[in-house]
Amino acid sequence: MSFSNLEQLYRQVIMDHYKNPRNKGILEADGYHSVHLKNPTCGDDVTVQVKIADGKITDIRHEGTGCSICCSSASVMSQTLRDKTLSDAQVLTDNFYEIVKGQPFNEELDMGDAPVYMGVAKFPARVKCATIAWKACETAVAEAVATAKTLA
Ligand code: ZN
Repeated sequence: MSFSNLEQLYRQVIMDHYKNPRNKGILEADGYHSVHLKNPTCGDDVTVQVKIADGKITDIRHEGTGCSICCSSASVMSQTLRDKTLSDAQVLTDNFYEIVKGQPFNEELDMGDAPVYMGVAKFPARVKCATIAWKACETAVAEAVATAKTLA
C-alpha cells in the first residue's frame, strides 16, 4: 500500500470514530470517577469517566467537544483501554504517546485503532488534541486509585 493510501485509510478510521464515537456519554452512576480537561489552543473540551474494579478498567465513558482528532481519539482510547488491567492500560497509554510523537513504539501491543494517529507527529500543535483524552483517562485512573486507598 502506498503511503498516501495508508494516510487515507487512517483518515477514514479517524472520521469513523468522530462520526460514530464508541462509549460516548457520561453516566450518572456510582463507582465512576471523571476528569475534565481543556486544550485552549484548539478549543478541545473533554470529560473522561472511568470505572475500576479488581485492578481493571471495567468501563470508560467520554464526552466533549473539539476537533476531529480530539473527539475521535477519545473514542479510540475508550475502546483500546477498556477491560485492561491498570498496569496494561498505563503501558498502552505510554505506547500511544510514542506513536503520536513519531517515536518507535511497541507494535506487538494490542493498540486497537490507535496507530492511525502516527501522522499527527508531523503536526506538533495537534499532538495535544490526540493525547488529551488519554491524559484525562490516566488522571482519572490515578485519582480513582487514590480515592479507593483513602476509603480503604
Ligand atoms: Zn484539537
